[in-house]
Amino acid sequence: MSPREQLCEYGRRAVDLGLVIGTSGNLSVREGDLVAVTPSGVALDRLTPEMCPVVDVAGHLVEGDLQPSSETPMHLAVYGTTDARAIVHTHSVFGTVVATTMTELPPVHYNALMLGGVVKVAEYATYGTPELAANVRAALEGKRAALMANHGGVTIGGTLEEAFELTRLLEWLCEVYVRGLGVGKPTVLTDEQLAAVVDRALNPPEFPRL
Ligand SMILES: [Zn+2]
Repeated sequence: MSPREQLCEYGRRAVDLGLVIGTSGNLSVREGDLVAVTPSGVALDRLTPEMCPVVDVAGHLVEGDLQPSSETPMHLAVYGTTDARAIVHTHSVFGTVVATTMTELPPVHYNALMLGGVVKVAEYATYGTPELAANVRAALEGKRAALMANHGGVTIGGTLEEAFELTRLLEWLCEVYVRGLGVGKPTVLTDEQLAAVVDRALNPPEFPRL
């Protein structure tokens, strides 16, 4: 699949899974110095490859008739400082709940390690602005995910598939935490417990052969 075809495919999935509504949310894929991004003002399940603009890393429109997503400056800022090859941004419900009520998502499940442990909430700034781009870039340092205060969430990956799966994971972790708060006081994993998980993943036990 070409990058623009991938945007259509994962755009549809994002809508199907309820991660975005209306024309919210945006995705991008980087290939070399070019970035294919979803257009502004089109629902993610109504995209065709030709609708998806291609910009260069400096933000010039290279291909396409529609305007790139208003959050393109944030995507380009993240590409400028990470090894990301794809970015997914949504306004998913539980991610946005955490982003409007907390300053970080604590690791209550070891799968949080796939996002870099604690997920930080980037300071609020108006959508589409360089300030928001800078805040998100800072919150993402050393991580694969960040939340955006009073706005939503963002994940990065080596492929769009990976970034998309991390968005699903981020939403799941936020849901577990928020639902946990409704039941009691969720226990946060300690640094030691998380280090033990990393150690276990790096040194899996082998099953002896009969
Ligand atoms: Zn947004």
